[in-house]
Amino acid sequence: MEKIKMTTPLVEMDGDEMTRILWKMIKDELLLPYIDLKTEYYDLGLEYRNETNDQVTVDSANATLKYGVAVKCATITPNAARMSEYDLKEMWKSPNGTIRAILDGTVFRTPIVVKGIEPCVRNWEKPITLARHAYGDVYKNAEIKIPGAGTAELVFTAEDGTVTKEVIHQFKGAGIIQGMHNTEESIGSFARACFNYAIDTKQDLWFATKDTISKKYDHTFKDIFEEIYEQEYKAKFEELGIEYFYTLIDDAVARVMKAKGGFIWACKNYDGDVMSDMVSSAFGSLAMMTSVLVSPTGVYEYEAAHGTVQRHYYNHLKGQETSTNSVATIFAWTGALKKRGELDQIQELADFADKLEKATLHTIEQGKMTKDLALITSLKEVQVLNSEGFIKAVREELEKSL
Ligand code: NAP
Ligand code: MG
Repeated sequence: MEKIKMTTPLVEMDGDEMTRILWKMIKDELLLPYIDLKTEYYDLGLEYRNETNDQVTVDSANATLKYGVAVKCATITPNAARMSEYDLKEMWKSPNGTIRAILDGTVFRTPIVVKGIEPCVRNWEKPITLARHAYGDVYKNAEIKIPGAGTAELVFTAEDGTVTKEVIHQFKGAGIIQGMHNTEESIGSFARACFNYAIDTKQDLWFATKDTISKKYDHTFKDIFEEIYEQEYKAKFEELGIEYFYTLIDDAVARVMKAKGGFIWACKNYDGDVMSDMVSSAFGSLAMMTSVLVSPTGVYEYEAAHGTVQRHYYNHLKGQETSTNSVATIFAWTGALKKRGELDQIQELADFADKLEKATLHTIEQGKMTKDLALITSLKEVQVLNSEGFIKAVREELEKSL
């Protein structure tokens, strides 16, 4: 078979620990034999980030802006323990945070649904994609513990000196206060990323806040979404037969539990933080969750939602066998290849990515899976495979479909 040709390179961001091992196996077994893989390679492994004073992360994000599509391996976010483990010059920032800031992106997380791994919510038939606003609110707040009686006020001083004040509370005793903010620009970027992604994946978009209680703060989110939708996206949504719909957060939570899935749920920062953990664990496993960062201008960075699976890596270093699930990392690659195929109009590449996804799912449906899935599957006959064994089994399945 002749290898599939690519025209534009994918931005490849390599990573750390167990996922770095899987990364190479996936490339060697599932991609390189079939594709004349064109990538611009950036090593985001912690050692090289340290060597380049983290410049490599910035470069990889800028390359993503240039080419439009990236695929990323999980990476270590340094903490105190990593400082000594890797002899770091500095506690480098989270690469995901750096990349997100440069791309001004929104993260969409989607569970990979497969027969045999049933969601806890029986009526969920299709994946629910969660979009979380990643700026502001309680994550960039100012808080004060009030020692005793007094007046708490919100004060805004404009550049021209004009002061606007609002009493928060007349305290009779000790208490707490909190101030938070968001910007119209960031909310607008979030809205556009959500509308673009809905169009891209041809799914309905839900958005919810508590605007009945928060008549200015949350209401502004509602208004900005509505305005951008009406002005920029409504016609396209109607053409595709998809819907944008706004409701109260309480109503959204209740409806999600009764829904069949197959839509995008956009959430404010805190709601998204909490709800994404609920939705992902209800769908089965962190190892079966993909993640894509989408910029408001339509630049895409695909990755697995899980981390570097450190515990497995240490076992691997001790020479012990591992059974680490590579599904989400495989899907990061297929997502990126499909997008590249679509943008460059290389149907063969998109078709190949589709076949690789189907082969991966089919392997699991036949009972061949890694240990994490074997523990939760409803299938009766299960063959637990090691990290490499699973990828080889996917390859066998893939060969049948080519
Ligand atoms: P993690 O790598 O997601 O792993 C946590 C646990 O979840 C694992 O020990 C394992 O459970 C299970 N698990 C996760 N992915 C799995 C997979 N593919 N196959 C099988 N089991 C899987 O989270 P962490 O251990 O908290 O973090 C490790 C490193 O990853 C940290 O340095 C953190 O900074 C980084 N991280 C990176 C990203 C990213 O790059 N996007 C995201 C999160 C964390 P068992 O041990 O029970 O088998
Ligand atoms: Mg959380």
